[in-house]
Amino acid sequence: MSDDDLVTAESRYLMHTFKRQPVELVRGEGVRVWDADGRELLDFVGGIAVNVLGHAHPDIVAAISAQAATLIHTSNLYYTRPQVELAERLSGLGLEGRSFFANSGAEANEAAVKLARKWGKQNRKGAYEVVSALGSFHGRTLAMVAATGQPKYQKPYAPMPDGFRHVPYNDIDALRAAISVKTVAILLEPILGESGVIPAEPAYLEAARELCDRENLLLIFDEIQTGMGRTGHFYAFQEYGVAPDVVTLAKGLGGGVPIGVCVAGARADVFEAGDHGSTFGGNPLACAAALVTLEVIEKLGLVEHAGVMGAYLEHKAHVHLSAFGTLRGRGLMQALVLHDDIAQPAAAAALDLGLIVNAIGDRVIRMVPPLIVTDADIDRAVSILEASLDAVSSNVASPGVVRP
Ligand code: PLP
Repeated sequence: MSDDDLVTAESRYLMHTFKRQPVELVRGEGVRVWDADGRELLDFVGGIAVNVLGHAHPDIVAAISAQAATLIHTSNLYYTRPQVELAERLSGLGLEGRSFFANSGAEANEAAVKLARKWGKQNRKGAYEVVSALGSFHGRTLAMVAATGQPKYQKPYAPMPDGFRHVPYNDIDALRAAISVKTVAILLEPILGESGVIPAEPAYLEAARELCDRENLLLIFDEIQTGMGRTGHFYAFQEYGVAPDVVTLAKGLGGGVPIGVCVAGARADVFEAGDHGSTFGGNPLACAAALVTLEVIEKLGLVEHAGVMGAYLEHKAHVHLSAFGTLRGRGLMQALVLHDDIAQPAAAAALDLGLIVNAIGDRVIRMVPPLIVTDADIDRAVSILEASLDAVSSNVASPGVVRP
């Protein structure tokens, strides 16, 4: 099939939900991927914060190959060892508690919201409303679109399911004012990801915790993008010293194999047999992938490494990119916030020059590379970004000039 045929067939046979970049990726290794023409690209998107160990990490390849040859799937009607071992491991990583496994971030958040609603029946006279932030992103199921504080995702599907209320992020007064007898939980990302990598103020998360304690509510952190060591802590909430009652993880958890989890501490853990379920959730293949991903993160010290590399990226960006914008974020979850509306053409130019980054809107370039990224990779990425921004801004400055 030729390149043109691929694009035509994609358009003909796939629903048009994604606007794809003009590249066909066929292979990956470490922080690099190759396109169908054999061109090497530096991957600073990493499957949108998923490929924490990079591509084709030998330990992941070995673990999933071995598990695939042994037992891929059984359903949750039976005990399987990788699932129990993974839950035990997760309980020791920042929120002691029990796990419910799903297949994606949206499903992990669905579990958290269902848990909160059941908890509300038992502990808050049937309260069911979840307060979340404007600009948040919690997934694409109907309920998670309702939880997501971005009207553009909701509009085509109105009316939305009831029970969600949105407040401006980092606004403590607005959060307080939104709490009523109907409220059962506050759901927050410690760093807003999809709307441009906006970290919470420490006082905001502290206030959310205090509110939940005082008003008897659950605090749920969505760490689907921020978790797995990405910010220089296993969970971003650990930097803030604010612990939730429930936390969700997905994206990087399986190192590329789909898996999500909702972990609940004892206070929130009210699910009983039959309350919730999933055919695939926590199957041996996905859990083996997650176990080896966690093992390698620990073995290589990748949580600390993410913090060090994040600081290096900030430094390099400050030195080389400050004419174009400033970096915002934590660890290896960073956004270059541009002075001009050139994010889209700059990301396209970077792709041409061999770097994959993600443009969010017109002003933000997001970088969420694999946690194994090195300072040499960062040097190269920053140099490509600088060249791309330079080329694009020169075109903006003198639109009549066609640059080679
Ligand atoms: N929550 C956050 C913070 C996310 O960034 C995402 C995905 O981008 C999700 C939830 C949804 O995850 P998934 O696409 O796996 O359903």
